[in-house]
Amino acid sequence: MSRKFVLSGAVALALAAAPLSGAVAVAAPAQSAAATTTVYYSTSGAPSFRAAINAGAANWNRAVTNVKLVERSSGATLRYTEGNDPRGSYAQTDGHGHGTIFIDYSQAQQYDNTRITAHETGHALGLPDHYSGPCSELMSGGGPGPSCRNANPNSQEASRVQRLWANGLSAVSGPQQRIYDHSPVG
Ligand SMILES: [Zn+2]
Repeated sequence: MSRKFVLSGAVALALAAAPLSGAVAVAAPAQSAAATTTVYYSTSGAPSFRAAINAGAANWNRAVTNVKLVERSSGATLRYTEGNDPRGSYAQTDGHGHGTIFIDYSQAQQYDNTRITAHETGHALGLPDHYSGPCSELMSGGGPGPSCRNANPNSQEASRVQRLWANGLSAVSGPQQRIYDHSPVG
């Protein structure tokens, strides 16, 4: 705490000494704070994958600043569930933080669990599938095969999410669509 106050004092002195640049410095933090939209998600329906879901969310939170994923059971707009579906895991979402993400057990036995959850979360943040992409792409999903364990979006994917969330809560949400992620090997 004391360190923070010392730094604040130093900044205040610098601003007082240079009022013109000070005006710019004050405006910038307020702008970036307003641009962050928080999406609350619940893992209560997917207890087996809670650690993987949180790890995937943390990967997104490190990659982007315009949207922040926070686990909270009450008032969550994004809910994770788990079970068996022969069509695989899916995201049913408007692409703007609302909907349901389903994790399929058989797919989870085959593929890296954090890659699955981070990929499905990518749909909830507005990204489409791109199965032909390399392992370094998160939205290539199962395309590169089960040996691919990358659970981080690449810089292009992060930039795209940044743009999609640049207008925060005022961004237009589309109707919810269900995006299935089929296992390439059936
Ligand atoms: Zn997908």
